[in-house]
Amino acid sequence: MPAKVGSDMRSVQEHQRVVLADASPLPATTASLLDADGLVLAEPVTAAWPLPSFDNSSMDGYAVHADDLAGASPSSPVRLPVRGDIAAGQEAAERLEPGTAVRIMTGAPVPDGADAVVPVEWTDGSTGEVTITGSPDPGAFIRRRGEDVAAGEVVIEAGTAINARVIALLAAVGLAGIPVHRRPRVAVISTGDELVDPGVEPGPGQIVDSNSYMLTAAVREAGATAVRVGPVRDDEAALERVLKEEAERSDLILTSGGVSMGAYDTVKAVLTRMGGVEFVKVAMQPGMPQGSGLVGSTPIVTLPGNPVSSFVSFEVFVRPLIRRLLGHAHCERPRLHAICARDFNSPAGKTQFARVSLRLHDGLMLAEPEGGQGSHIIGGLARADGLAVIPESVTHVAGRDELVIIDLRGGA
Ligand code: AMP
Ligand code: MG
Repeated sequence: MPAKVGSDMRSVQEHQRVVLADASPLPATTASLLDADGLVLAEPVTAAWPLPSFDNSSMDGYAVHADDLAGASPSSPVRLPVRGDIAAGQEAAERLEPGTAVRIMTGAPVPDGADAVVPVEWTDGSTGEVTITGSPDPGAFIRRRGEDVAAGEVVIEAGTAINARVIALLAAVGLAGIPVHRRPRVAVISTGDELVDPGVEPGPGQIVDSNSYMLTAAVREAGATAVRVGPVRDDEAALERVLKEEAERSDLILTSGGVSMGAYDTVKAVLTRMGGVEFVKVAMQPGMPQGSGLVGSTPIVTLPGNPVSSFVSFEVFVRPLIRRLLGHAHCERPRLHAICARDFNSPAGKTQFARVSLRLHDGLMLAEPEGGQGSHIIGGLARADGLAVIPESVTHVAGRDELVIIDLRGGA
């Protein structure tokens, strides 16, 4: 029986909908081939010329008339005079007369008249007169003009995510400037008087600011440009100034900390005064306190301060938002099924995102819970490579139960 979500809590799905509600791909711009890596094509790309753009040899060997070699074999070799060489990058030589051969290299244009290439391995490799011990079929070892891509053909649709393989095709059809959705600039602001930078030994009561580094890396892994700002002290005036500055130059602002029920929850205090941001409790564990809205016209998501809560909230709400801004059609991580390796409990009425490490055992994917439920357990978070999604109604997960896992490994 599904447990009831407390009336003051919003479901995960509903909050995902709210965070994504007004997001659309950023405007199109032109990027160089390599800067386009990881971005999304904003317009379809048409081939200006066919691929291959001329008939060329797929082997080092000899261009021939196939008829001249009918029946050629080791016991009955055929000899042909060699009329020169064609290397890759050279123009096609004159027409190949019947009864002759021309030495040809991989990628070199096949001369008119020739209808097959004999690999050098079937010959004695000579340059004056070549001895050939095999008989190629007509068309053998010739890569035909247009057999891959026709001129004028749409080779890549708008909305395609650009990766190394797509870049190969964009380059091959001659594009240097690629129409893409602009890469979002995301400002990451951590808050808290207790925070010191890595490399500084924390004094009494201080901790190292791990969230801003974690979130900056997570933003980059999602495909956006991240600018790490902070940490900002729990000082309302200072925070307001930073928020306004970042709103001017960012497509999205992320904050960490200062959104729960404490006396020094600066993010909540400042943004409540400024207006435009809604603070809610989401029925999830970890990550209950959430906020989202606008600073000026720039979207902001306020993430909880506990590192695990911050990370899980980023994964569940922010990563899909960044993917949407980038223009991806599918903004969600891939999910997989795995067998739970051991029992654990889950809070009633909340969706739990349990950190799990994944391993294959006899062809079955096993999910090992990592770090328990504590939202401060960074060690377990670092070992995790998936988030098991435990529905609100489930309070106990048994070993061998099948789990649905958000797969954190890999990019998309
Ligand atoms: P807060 O919501 O600001 O009260 O923070 C909740 C918990 O998260 C506290 O234990 C903070 O010390 C911790 N925390 C807040 N910000 C960070 C951060 N940037 N890095 C690591 N831990 C943090
Ligand atoms: Mg704080």
